[in-house]
Amino acid sequence: MSEAPWTIGRLLNWTADFLRERGADSPRLDAEVLLAHARGCPRIALYTAFEEPASEELRTQFRELVKQRAAGKPVAYLVGHREFFSLSFDVTPDVLIPRPETEGLVVRALDLLKETPSPAPRVADVGTGSGAIAVALAKQNPKVQVTAIDVSPAALAVARGNAEKHGVTDRIEFVEGDLLAGVDAGAAFDLIAANLPYVTSNELGELAEGVRKYEPRLALDGGEQGDELIQRLLPQATQRLTPGGWLLMELSPMIAGRVEQLIDNAAGLIRHETLKDTNGLARLAQAQREA
Ligand code: GLN
Repeated sequence: MSEAPWTIGRLLNWTADFLRERGADSPRLDAEVLLAHARGCPRIALYTAFEEPASEELRTQFRELVKQRAAGKPVAYLVGHREFFSLSFDVTPDVLIPRPETEGLVVRALDLLKETPSPAPRVADVGTGSGAIAVALAKQNPKVQVTAIDVSPAALAVARGNAEKHGVTDRIEFVEGDLLAGVDAGAAFDLIAANLPYVTSNELGELAEGVRKYEPRLALDGGEQGDELIQRLLPQATQRLTPGGWLLMELSPMIAGRVEQLIDNAAGLIRHETLKDTNGLARLAQAQREA
């Protein structure tokens, strides 16, 4: 019996089946992204190469990636980048992989910034991680000046690299620090965006394996009730917002009620409606500094 040759198409089919059996959510897509990475080509180029034989070298490289994927390592860490807001962001295990839900925060921030009277609106991105929010905002709105803050120097290095990649370093300042503590006392922001850790202690153990084992706990762990960092941010943000300035915070339905209450009880903040993500889940808390 003669073995069918390993073509690009056959490799993809085999690998998609293999990853499906191992419980991957999107086995075919994963197989394509990993093979394109090993082959050094855009994913789309695989479609015209189905009949092409795969070299031994390519198969060896691909096999190593598939092995790690099957063990649960997220594709974004394997290939070193992830798309967010139609931009490619470099990611390492020092940063949370940008999520599609967070694009909703960027959309809302861009809308609000359009209405800001300031000719050069100032924005803070607290807990910037990969810099996804900061870079997407700077890229989409050429007038904004962003302060991107993170407590992790390793994350800030990734964020800086992403700002360079997208040519916006001149409008993003990077600050290492805990929430807003490291920012100039005199700085006032028209908008503060924060995708802080908001996973509760109970939920931490139940996260998908790829998240739990590979993504930084520092970016996920929101303390016992999930709102520890948000709670600490509120008074700091109130002090640093311009009158009428906005605070946007990503959250989960799990803690939405608590966060709404925290905003209601915070002096100087007016709460606005919590927005839902595209799955219909509470995702974005909104508050505005009293004018
Ligand atoms: N959305 C992330 C998750 O479900 C949590 C991100 C965060 O804590 N900021 O894994």
